[in-house]
Amino acid sequence: MAEEYDVIILGGGPAGSSCAAFLSKSGKKVLLLDRATFPRDKTCGDGISGRSVGVLQDLGLMGQVQKIEHEDMYGVTFSSPVGKVVPIGAPRGNGEKPPGFVCRREVLDNMLFQNAKKLATKTIEKFIATDIIKENGKVVGVKGNLNGKETTFLAKIFVGADGAGGISARKLGSLNTDEKHQAAAIRAYYDNVDGMIDQIELHFIDGVLPGYFWIFPLPDKSANVGIGMLVADMKKKKVNLQKLMEEVITNHPVFKSRFAKAKRTSDVKSWILPLASATPKLKIYGDGYVLLGDAASLIDPFTGEGIGNALTSGQISAEIINEAFEKNDFSEAVLSKYPKILWDKIGEEVMTNYNMQKHANSRWKMNLIIDKASRSKDIQGVISNALINPDGHKTLIDPMFILRALLA
Ligand SMILES: Cc1cc2nc3c(=O)[nH]c(=O)nc-3n(C[C@H](O)[C@H](O)[C@H](O)COP(=O)(O)OP(=O)(O)OC[C@H]3O[C@@H](n4cnc5c(N)ncnc54)[C@H](O)[C@@H]3O)c2cc1C
Repeated sequence: MAEEYDVIILGGGPAGSSCAAFLSKSGKKVLLLDRATFPRDKTCGDGISGRSVGVLQDLGLMGQVQKIEHEDMYGVTFSSPVGKVVPIGAPRGNGEKPPGFVCRREVLDNMLFQNAKKLATKTIEKFIATDIIKENGKVVGVKGNLNGKETTFLAKIFVGADGAGGISARKLGSLNTDEKHQAAAIRAYYDNVDGMIDQIELHFIDGVLPGYFWIFPLPDKSANVGIGMLVADMKKKKVNLQKLMEEVITNHPVFKSRFAKAKRTSDVKSWILPLASATPKLKIYGDGYVLLGDAASLIDPFTGEGIGNALTSGQISAEIINEAFEKNDFSEAVLSKYPKILWDKIGEEVMTNYNMQKHANSRWKMNLIIDKASRSKDIQGVISNALINPDGHKTLIDPMFILRALLA
């Protein structure tokens, strides 16, 4: 007999762990499944933004964040194709939490997963999902491999939070396959990167545009370093991201000296980013199921930030799933509220940043924007004053917030 739950959550990354924690707190019988054993790594820039900080606060986890290895961030440094550098700081002090931080995913995700595990009815690692089970068109469970045996779990609601490489979006016909709405990125860890301060760095430099080169500082002068670019542009320009990053680090006039004593301490890893500019075209809910995070293609189309939206999708889906239980109705009609509320929260930002992604194709526009910021203390002041967003979460680490201010 297959075990039965109220909700099955496939994937214990930020999206699944957040959904599991919120649902379990409201008393649902939750099964959380993941193919990995935690702590596990996830290829990422490790930049944790204001949106993430907001949900982490709601989860009651910011106290734990202070205890895990991370680096608080108080601003963003931009540089332009002609080499203009603009460091824009965030206000600090008053014992407030930082606007954002950088934390290895192995560490952050383990904290989120262990929190969910503590709250969920049951958590199973090393479960490799292979198929979604449907009955009369409604999703009723998941099938997979556990300790070499085919195992089935059933539930009233299935939550697909299994990331960009998972099975949920594919099996449910919601996979983002459009290369104009996908980015590719690589990242590696380096020790001894020179000249870092307590700001994340986004460099819109020649050769890398319309993508960007990032340096996200970690403790002890180590850093997460990477490059991301739209897949369509990458293919059109026949870019090899790894060669491009080596080129930047060894030959770029600024980065050559900053990386002169640096040592790479990890493999260079790449992964795909399904962008939220595609989400309006995708069906991320249906009879008996919802999709979250990367499985719902929720990554910011310009910044590549996906953790905040993944956590948010976990929080919002939990609210709608609770409503479905109150009504005892798990149909598509009830669950259709989930993408609506989610889009109300993130849609404007996503579409603004989708437009910015198009601006970044233009070298002169990026020179103009960054030059404008470098010369105008007023603009920097506006940005600095606006570092606390309306819902009370600081958003400085979201670079688009700043670029939008520059364009205003
Ligand atoms: C190079 C790169 C840099 C990035 N940088 C940033 C950044 O700096 N900041 C930011 O906010 N975002 C960044 N992102 C995006 C961010 O990594 C994702 O948006 C985020 O991880 C999404 O979380 P998730 O929970 O949806 O999926 P994931 O974190 O991918 O979690 C999915 C989980 O599902 C499990 N799973 C998958 N398939 C199965 C299966 N068949 N059976 C069982 N379990 C399964 C996996 O083991 C995994 O634990 C970056 C992405 C890349 C590729």
